[in-house]
Amino acid sequence: ETRSLALLRDVDARTRDGENISLQANLELPRDLVQAVAAGAQGVGLLRTEFMFMNREDLPAEDEQYDALRTIVEGMDGYTVTIRTLDVGGEKLASSLGDHVGTGVNPALGLRAIRLSLKEISLLETQLAAILRAGAHGQVRILLPMISSTNEVKEVKKILFSVAERLQAQGIRIADPLPPVGAMIEIPGAALAADALAQVVDFFAIGTNDLTMYTLAIDRSEEQVAHLYNPLHPAVLRLIQFSVGAALRARIPVSVCGEMAGDPRFTALLLGLGVRDLSMSATGLPRVKKRVLKIDMRAASHRAMAIMDQHDSGRISALLDDFNESH
Ligand code: PEP
Ligand code: MG
Repeated sequence: ETRSLALLRDVDARTRDGENISLQANLELPRDLVQAVAAGAQGVGLLRTEFMFMNREDLPAEDEQYDALRTIVEGMDGYTVTIRTLDVGGEKLASSLGDHVGTGVNPALGLRAIRLSLKEISLLETQLAAILRAGAHGQVRILLPMISSTNEVKEVKKILFSVAERLQAQGIRIADPLPPVGAMIEIPGAALAADALAQVVDFFAIGTNDLTMYTLAIDRSEEQVAHLYNPLHPAVLRLIQFSVGAALRARIPVSVCGEMAGDPRFTALLLGLGVRDLSMSATGLPRVKKRVLKIDMRAASHRAMAIMDQHDSGRISALLDDFNESH
């Protein structure tokens, strides 16, 4: 099976009825590049930059961040690299950030991700400078984690423009034009306001891990309620469906980059809901590609509509598994 998966690398991810699906990789550090390229990833749909801040006592300087990002951008050889700004807090801790994160009353609902970046603006400025400089060496996009409102996007854009101006005034080469700016859709409120958010961003990346957790109020890492964590809950599926619809209506790209995207069990459902870009760990990519090759898009859309009519996640599971077995 390893061999047949390796042969898949250069095969396009196209459905039986000829729709092209873009399969991209989720990356943490430059060392993950080799695997992403080997799996045939057509870009990086999610670079989790917080890993550059974890397991160390000091903060990475702009040059260090730039070097790491440039390595990834060049390694992807013309494919787009979607760089997410720092997403620490909640379950993701970084001792280099000291007491800033993970100490609140409820860290999952506290100072984390974009909220931290907008409070510690110099952190964000440094990161944006590194991203803009790396963007001079290939295609990059900027992705903002835990966005809950259009105001956060506008604030980040202001800071992005001022950083870009400063770098240009210093004669430093940066991405030209400026990279697209997108929002993670992973807070239920962001999904419900996706039509408003689509007016201020250039793309969406749906994070089904946090979206499931916050929608169902189930901690991703709490064993006692782990059995209730279910992305097939109708509420989660409706939020995904609405977000995808809002993106399509606003004509902006939308991808899914949570664990759901890397699990072939969900591929037909996500495609049926209108998703054409999936980003996942490189190890899962060949299996998802195999699944895409077997799917008929019209049948998948049809089944997705039937699933969206259901109220019960058990029934949803059954409809999905039945489709997967027969298609
Ligand atoms: C998500 O929440 O689905 C996601 C992709 O982001 P992370 O897993 O890094 O929180
Ligand atoms: Mg997340």
